[in-house]
Amino acid sequence: MLILFTNVTKIFDNGTEALKEVSFYVERGEFVFVIGSSGAGKSTITKLIMREELPTEGGILINNTDITKIPRSELPYYRRKLGVVFQDFRLLPGKTVFENVAFALQVIGAPKREVRRKVPAVLNLVGLAHKAKVRVTELSGGEQQRVSLARAIINNPPVLLCDEPTGNLDPVTALEIMQILNQINKSGTTILLVTHASDIVDMMKKRVIEIQDGIIVRDQKQGVYSA
Ligand code: ADP
Repeated sequence: MLILFTNVTKIFDNGTEALKEVSFYVERGEFVFVIGSSGAGKSTITKLIMREELPTEGGILINNTDITKIPRSELPYYRRKLGVVFQDFRLLPGKTVFENVAFALQVIGAPKREVRRKVPAVLNLVGLAHKAKVRVTELSGGEQQRVSLARAIINNPPVLLCDEPTGNLDPVTALEIMQILNQINKSGTTILLVTHASDIVDMMKKRVIEIQDGIIVRDQKQGVYSA
């Protein structure tokens, strides 16, 4: 089991109960959509996995590690191991495609040789090898999201967290990104993807976890957006 939430409750300082005794697990290699209306608790799940927040009660195991017990000083190392993709790409604007992806390796102290070998390979996977020297600000939204995918997977993360990865993209580009994610998943990476895009969820026919008011109301294999 790669992700295990056991009776996780999250109450924010202002008293908002964002998650109420949420339990679920994700096996290695799964592709899971997390859906639900705004304010349901989806981002709280990703923030807990990233250890941006701690649960008020309950346990969270990632790759058999109790992440609630990771000391603050070790958090940067833990976070660098996760792959994360956001709606707004979060790239280094003045840098090239190659530099943006290389950065994820450089922060973990990878030798230059490894950077030169791995970056082209992962850019190839997302179909951007020919744009390696282009500044990311000169790319389309879809291309920028491919760069952020490449950056997220270059360290072979145990889990790839995607928070509305297609939220800023037109429908055709969104589909292209989903196809790349599907490929990444088929090569063994576990994916947890938060989205509102019902058409994409319906098309992919993957597991769907639906949250309402901090409670899992549906957990369905090969699910659709509206059951
Ligand atoms: P979603 O991602 O499904 O839109 P969230 O997980 O962001 O929902 O939020 C769940 C609930 O927790 C909402 O009521 C939201 O207002 C509240 N919430 C989220 N973050 C905080 C915070 N830092 N402080 C207080 N309340 C929060």
